[in-house]
Amino acid sequence: MTAATLIDDLFSSGILIETGVDGLYGRSGAFEEVIDRFNALITRFGGGDGATRVHFPPGISRTQFEKSGYMKSFPQLAGTVHAFVGNDADHCRLLAQLQAGEDWTEGQKPTDIVLTPAACYPLYPAVAKAGALPDAGKLYDLTSYCFRHEPSKEPTRMQLFRMREFVRIGTPEQVRGFRESWLTRGQEMIGLLGLPLTVDVANDPFFGRAGKMLANNQRDSGLKFELLIPVNSEENPTACLSFNYHQEHFGSLWGIKGEGGEVAHTACVGFGMERVALALFKHYGMDTDAWPEGVRKVLWG
Ligand code: ATP
Ligand code: ZN
Repeated sequence: MTAATLIDDLFSSGILIETGVDGLYGRSGAFEEVIDRFNALITRFGGGDGATRVHFPPGISRTQFEKSGYMKSFPQLAGTVHAFVGNDADHCRLLAQLQAGEDWTEGQKPTDIVLTPAACYPLYPAVAKAGALPDAGKLYDLTSYCFRHEPSKEPTRMQLFRMREFVRIGTPEQVRGFRESWLTRGQEMIGLLGLPLTVDVANDPFFGRAGKMLANNQRDSGLKFELLIPVNSEENPTACLSFNYHQEHFGSLWGIKGEGGEVAHTACVGFGMERVALALFKHYGMDTDAWPEGVRKVLWG
């Protein structure tokens, strides 16, 4: 099945709902049910770790976004929120432009909000603000809709999608141990669902020529692993889970420190919720009632 027919199947069965924009889709109840059940499966694996649950809306403060350095690495993916801030005359001009089918966006001004690019971004400044880390470090469980400007016909590459993340903050040993354990758990979890998988080192899509070096360094140092499942094609399996070790990057950027003043290390494991759901629909068909008994049992109990 090619990417085109997978998305056609998803649309024609009503699993995803077209909006006219690639990567921006409505979700059916059946799709959301699968997301809910997969979320419950993640909690079955990780729920005993005592993670603190936090929830941010899918927007990050523009000031924090600027400080995060995202525009240095991924300017092509960022989405800023703009709004109309004019007077009556500006409003009249805006309406005339709309009426004439002209560009009406020139009067839109940036707000203090940027769309969240990865669920963990708003967490680090909040943790830094809370003061010194306890010896045991911290562990968080968070989910956010994330925005990335990467329109695509591949249903697995959306512009707005959900990421659930566990984020570990602490010593290098604590953080590396966390990532190791999730590398194993992630494979167990996807294995339980009967989906074919591979795990590979990876790199983020850093922008431009300078970004190529960052990407190579990330790859060579084994800082990012991905769990891949074939969804759009066998040749190019899709990254459905990511395991990222940031070393001191976020700790030193935001000033997250232990009691003794040592800079915290961080790592996160990210679950691409839509991607896992799409992998299940691709492998088992559009009717969840007809999915294999074993898979239904794992998800629905
Ligand atoms: P890719 O290499 O496919 O662009 P990524 O390495 O940029 O993905 P991460 O930044 O590690 O992805 O994001 C964490 C998880 O979020 C990924 O493992 C993936 O499952 C999911 N994800 C990333 N981008 C998208 C997208 N455009 N649509 C749906 N899910 C996504
Ligand atoms: Zn993260």
